[in-house]
Amino acid sequence: MIFIIRIVRFLIIAAVVYFLVRLLWKGDLFGFLKKEKKSKSPKPLEEMKKDPVCGTYIPESQAIKLNWKKENVYFCSEECKQKFQKLHR
Ligand SMILES: [Zn+2]
Repeated sequence: MIFIIRIVRFLIIAAVVYFLVRLLWKGDLFGFLKKEKKSKSPKPLEEMKKDPVCGTYIPESQAIKLNWKKENVYFCSEECKQKFQKLHR
């Protein structure tokens, strides 16, 4: 019984550590990207649009736009746009 408790406790600690490390790493990465943007170009960050078919994020200028139900939907490729149109007919 004590053995099981030890395993469970270990798993919880491992999960917490993993979560913290990920959080820290993400924060660092974000800070790094921000710095890079600032020093390279004064342009504002382009808005990223989510492709509802495959879930990828595409910069607005490179996305394929579709007006659907009075809303703009963005796709990474013509293929995804066609899939979406098939699904929402
Ligand atoms: Zn896509």
